[in-house]
Amino acid sequence: MRVLVVEDNETYGRLLAARLGLSGFEADVAVSVAEAEWASSQVDYSAIVLDLGLPDRDGMEFLRELRGRGKTTPVLIVTARNRLADRVAALHAGADDFMGKPFSTDELIARLHAVLRRPHTMVGRVMRLGNLAIDLETRQVRVDGALLSIRLREQAILELLVRDHGTVVTRRAIEAHLFGLADESDSNAIDVYVHRLRRHLADSGATVQIHTVRGVGFMISVIRQPVHDADMPNGRNGTQP
Ligand code: CA
Repeated sequence: MRVLVVEDNETYGRLLAARLGLSGFEADVAVSVAEAEWASSQVDYSAIVLDLGLPDRDGMEFLRELRGRGKTTPVLIVTARNRLADRVAALHAGADDFMGKPFSTDELIARLHAVLRRPHTMVGRVMRLGNLAIDLETRQVRVDGALLSIRLREQAILELLVRDHGTVVTRRAIEAHLFGLADESDSNAIDVYVHRLRRHLADSGATVQIHTVRGVGFMISVIRQPVHDADMPNGRNGTQP
């Protein structure tokens, strides 16, 4: 996995890159925002380690621009500016994690691995998958920009699936999410919600599809062409568990 280290202290940047190299990463070093912009336009990095105090511009500006361009590359901020306000601002601007200097490189590497394990579907407050977009603040779901009118619980399931897209979300996880741990859960209700969700997605021409993983749960993935109910092969996409 190739990562970009943006750090104006070149000696330190090289040392960090070498240390990342020992942990199986390939690391490039940029010493300014200009260099970081150029490097990130050339290479689709798995992650970016970003210092904030840079000679030409502030690292936060680079982060905002990156997110503004719709790039979901995980960004881990490493800075001496470690006040609460800085951390909050960085996370709001779209950083995935934040570490104050000085820090241990072991911890940085552990956090990089953690950040890389997360699915990266978020640009700001909007979660995207295929032509589907979920705005987590306004609670609106759109397919190709058109508003989808779905129930709150259907949306909760959709959010969960999109957040962990490509992996199976267990029935248990969905139950806990929908009903809370104390409430009595109703497993059949989940099938009803998922069935409705599939219909909404198919009717609106969404390029995502919910799969049933028998005995385990559900998984969402991107498909090339919108699928309509009639086209769904039985078994793989049946609504019965
Ligand atoms: Ca610096």
